[in-house]
Amino acid sequence: MDIVLTCREASHLMSQAYDRKLGLLERLGLKAHLLICDACRKVKHQLDLLHRFSRKVAAEPEALLDLQPGLSAEAQARILKELHRVRDG
Ligand SMILES: [Zn+2]
Repeated sequence: MDIVLTCREASHLMSQAYDRKLGLLERLGLKAHLLICDACRKVKHQLDLLHRFSRKVAAEPEALLDLQPGLSAEAQARILKELHRVRDG
């Protein structure tokens, strides 16, 4: 792998980083790319937010309902039940 990553490689590594620990060269390459590439910095920011949010919802499905304050109690109960079902397999 070249030390200078393309945006495609960088975004691949960014998503990989959530599933496995990146190697030293991968981390350095990604860091270097993020220093010079505005677009990928923005993508990383979005991914981080999304990742944090999905972890939060996985741990605490009720968090999702904070985003939907207008839902009826019945709809909330239905969604929560479904989220718990998905999480608990
Ligand atoms: Zn880039």
